[in-house]
Amino acid sequence: MQDQPLRVTVWNEFIHERTQAKVAAIYPEGIHETLAKGLGARLGSKAVFQTATLEEPQHGLPTDRLDQTDVLIWWGHTAHDDVSDEVVERIQQRVLAGMGLLVLHSGHGSKIFRRLLGTGCMLRWREAAECERLWIVDPGHPIVDGLEGEYLELPQTEMYGEFFDIPRPDELVFISWFAGGEVFRSGCTFRRGRGKLFYFRPGHETYPIYHDQQVQQVLANAVLWAAPVGVPYQGQARNAVESLEPLGPD
Ligand code: ZN
Repeated sequence: MQDQPLRVTVWNEFIHERTQAKVAAIYPEGIHETLAKGLGARLGSKAVFQTATLEEPQHGLPTDRLDQTDVLIWWGHTAHDDVSDEVVERIQQRVLAGMGLLVLHSGHGSKIFRRLLGTGCMLRWREAAECERLWIVDPGHPIVDGLEGEYLELPQTEMYGEFFDIPRPDELVFISWFAGGEVFRSGCTFRRGRGKLFYFRPGHETYPIYHDQQVQQVLANAVLWAAPVGVPYQGQARNAVESLEPLGPD
């Protein structure tokens, strides 16, 4: 596995970029293409990127595509309910089998995130072009590898504030402070089955967040962190009783 490039699929509902001129000006080819190109350039031969969008058959995520995805990146906002339950179920099973999943920004409300975490995943928010400072609270974590300083700062963001209705994260990597006074757990990891999840808060579509070099560094690190490790997945669980050998001559 180590010698093969990681297979990364960037999924985007791809609606705001086609319906709002302000968003199209920032992401003319869509958030998914910006991420695929930006992270692809950072990771070089370590990873190959593909993209998938809501309007494609099976949202671009048929079984064979998911089977060939090591890490899935998810951006959704206005069309969470349009994602089919069948595809959500398929993604969940792949995560439990070891596929990594990065859920970005408004993806906190997606079906797949809420299903995997089992809570409402809601929060408070305000769109007021505020400064956000993301404090690194786990400086030894691989997801912050290569960042300079104790925090990263985004001059204009949408605010997300606590309470964020998620289970207690396995690891907390970033805590955000906003100029308006709120705080937020903006970089959280979780494990579900064999799969690793990373939730990363920044990414509102009307600000150029995914062009930010430090944001790209975090997400490239997260791809490497979330990659499957260990013995390759062997498919469905086997019946342990049937596979037992007799203990002795009796
Ligand atoms: Zn947003």
